[in-house]
Amino acid sequence: MITKTCYNEECSQENPQPLTNFHKQSTGKLGVRSRCRTCHNQAMRDYERKRGPEWRRKKTLHRYGITPQDYDRMFREQEGKCKICEKIPQERHSRDRHLVVDHCHTTQAVRGLLCHSCNRALGMFNDDPKVLDKAAAYLRSA
Ligand SMILES: [Zn+2]
Ligand SMILES: [Zn+2]
Repeated sequence: MITKTCYNEECSQENPQPLTNFHKQSTGKLGVRSRCRTCHNQAMRDYERKRGPEWRRKKTLHRYGITPQDYDRMFREQEGKCKICEKIPQERHSRDRHLVVDHCHTTQAVRGLLCHSCNRALGMFNDDPKVLDKAAAYLRSA
């Protein structure tokens, strides 16, 4: 079995370790990273913590292809209200969690900001307007 010693001198794992304890990295020695998974993951967590909440927010929004400025602009345009139910969510512990970015799963285009409930509801209906129409008709007929 090929083994490798973690680059981190304070590594909590028993060294040397099997290669499966390392993340793959094609440019690395033996095709893996220099630090074991445990140390690598810890380093990533420390890194994110050091960069702070603004950086994390930027990274999260980047996944949707928007900047914090885009989010804030949409948020202002919607006056902080959910684009479907028009309620202002009450959980205020984090600005991002306040309204979530809703995007089309096929085109990746951002549709707007929604409260958690509406966003989840769309997901449960598979973002299918036809089914949602039927659900609305069903409710009206009662
Ligand atoms: Zn390690
Ligand atoms: Zn809503």
